[in-house]
Amino acid sequence: MNKKDEVNFLPRLTGSFAMPAAENPTVAMMEAAFQYHELHYRYINCEVTPENLEAAVKGAKAMGWTGFNCSIPHKVNVIQYLDELGESARIIGAVNTIVRRGNDWIGENTDGKGFVQAMRTVTDPAGKSVLIFGAGGAARAVAVEMAFAGAANIDIVNRGHERGEELAGLINEKTGATASYSPWTHNFQIRPETDIVINATSIGLYPNVDQQLDIDFNTLNDGMVVADGIHNPPQTHFLREAKSRGCSTVDGLQMLVNQGVIGIKYWTGTDVDPEVMRKELAAVLNL
Ligand code: NDP
Repeated sequence: MNKKDEVNFLPRLTGSFAMPAAENPTVAMMEAAFQYHELHYRYINCEVTPENLEAAVKGAKAMGWTGFNCSIPHKVNVIQYLDELGESARIIGAVNTIVRRGNDWIGENTDGKGFVQAMRTVTDPAGKSVLIFGAGGAARAVAVEMAFAGAANIDIVNRGHERGEELAGLINEKTGATASYSPWTHNFQIRPETDIVINATSIGLYPNVDQQLDIDFNTLNDGMVVADGIHNPPQTHFLREAKSRGCSTVDGLQMLVNQGVIGIKYWTGTDVDPEVMRKELAAVLNL
């Protein structure tokens, strides 16, 4: 940048509003992608309390930010400050990526989109029979996007009946997939005709790395694709059990990386290299 007319000291701004924020590694992978692709953008990791969320959103607008991520505890509350929601974000009822289009702020949810993108590297969800453990925010996003990707039927298995039944009802009502709820009985047996098995609970997340799903691992077979939403550690107990039985696997790190890839595409229009981001995440998390 020697020529005077090429110098630009004003990067476009993106970032994250969450609380807590210090342990969120997203900033590392986003900045790695911006640098690698020479995108004149920055990603600012901000700790924002619930009472300061409105001011933070107004601040981002005032400073001309291109967009931002929202994480816990703002994914639902931020919606009131936005102009519009993407289709799946509306159905999921939560937003994690905000994109400025003209003067409008649009809320999207990339949790499930990142998951489906990772899944597609192993198998196409279209026509598949899917089992999801969990019915929280991650499960909701994954179930809706798997349904939009053409999954034929989705069985939700959750410890709490109410959340499980509500999620199955949502999928039946708002998507083309057929969904059911199964109670999570002890030593849960996975039906042999299941194509894709997904852990969308928080079981196995660092530091509880020895926590195990209460399932009969011998009901996994080598025709199944097994995925885990837990990104730290990426090789969970569940994925190790699945691999040892010959299943193809998808880890939570891929889901997280793909969320970043999709977010950067929304903000910059550029398709960034997921491998650069995955490597940076693995390095900063000592994986
Ligand atoms: P929520 O708190 O909304 O939901 C947690 C889910 O886990 C519920 O279904 C809960 O069941 C279930 N659960 C927790 N402990 C147990 C247990 N001991 N036995 C059975 N079920 C249990 O969390 P989220 O859905 O937001 O997040 C879930 C996980 O997904 C997190 O670990 C997070 O790290 C991961 N995630 C990963 C992302 C990625 O990019 N890789 C993105 C977003 C989330 P119940 O309803 O009965 O309480």
